[in-house]
Amino acid sequence: MKENKIIFQVDAISKEFSAQRTFREIVTGTKKRVLALDRVSFEIKENEIFALVGESGCGKTTLARIMMKLISPTRGRFYFQGRDVTHINKQEEKKYRLKVQMIFQDPYASMNPRFRTRDVLEEPLVIHRFEKNKKARTRIIHDALSDVRLLPPGEYMTRFPHMLSGGQRQRVSIARARLLSPVLIVADEPVSMIDLSTRAEILFLMKQVQQKTGMSYLYITHDLSTARYFADRIGVMYLGTIVESGNVDEVISNPCHPYTKALIASVCEPVPGKVDSIKEIPLKGEIPPSTHIPGGCRFHPRCLYALPRCMEEEPPAVEVNPDHLVACHLFP
Ligand code: SF4
Repeated sequence: MKENKIIFQVDAISKEFSAQRTFREIVTGTKKRVLALDRVSFEIKENEIFALVGESGCGKTTLARIMMKLISPTRGRFYFQGRDVTHINKQEEKKYRLKVQMIFQDPYASMNPRFRTRDVLEEPLVIHRFEKNKKARTRIIHDALSDVRLLPPGEYMTRFPHMLSGGQRQRVSIARARLLSPVLIVADEPVSMIDLSTRAEILFLMKQVQQKTGMSYLYITHDLSTARYFADRIGVMYLGTIVESGNVDEVISNPCHPYTKALIASVCEPVPGKVDSIKEIPLKGEIPPSTHIPGGCRFHPRCLYALPRCMEEEPPAVEVNPDHLVACHLFP
């Protein structure tokens, strides 16, 4: 079978921020750093959905912002279609954004409240000089709204964001993201602010758009259950690093890292006839702050299987099955 080409490669990306300091720390000149990402590496192939899953504060959104070139990494490099795009100039950045688009978590905040849907969708076409003819632009917007099932499109074009429901706003975001025919869409928690009943519908729509266009997604979420049904491959993040990755079915059916097991156990599945189906989660304590990342394996204070060496040595990622990597001392 023909192997899909790699279109995006993240190579050992790290990101540090300066943390807020106390008065004493300012006086004594103590520097405080937050390590939001620590040597994160993964690849996205063409026509593939790669999901990054983890708790809030694990660094998923920082990574999305780096990929969108909104911030720069402290160390490491990333490549798009085989080209190093870590440090490119403004002109190249504009071309890059034609090919890599984003769907934001909050569709309302990502739209100008004074813009009608038509203006929201027309803006990227004008900025990127995608189509000079106004009539042709109207046709593109019309088709984009039809693709995301906002029918009849003519009616939705005249509405302001506040006249749309959360689900409809996110449909407009999807239409806007795919308007310029990107190669990759970075979707940062695209359904977390939408009613539960609409989530599956939006993800289904995103998948349909992907199948129609052949593009790829980086799907960022804290919700393993949606990643399971939406993604092809998955990376599980904990405190700024990927602890397990691989084919989504393989990782979910054969989880190796104790954190992945805890995430899977935390997904509530309704059991017919059983009201109380909540299971005990194999995890202790809370996620530590990024200013105090534990030494050795960073998961050891919460791990029920921790060995003495886990406090001293950071586990390397090892392949437990083809394309299934795990960073844990239980898998030497
Ligand atoms: Fe737990 Fe040790 Fe594995 Fe870390 S390396 S997840 S502490 S068993």
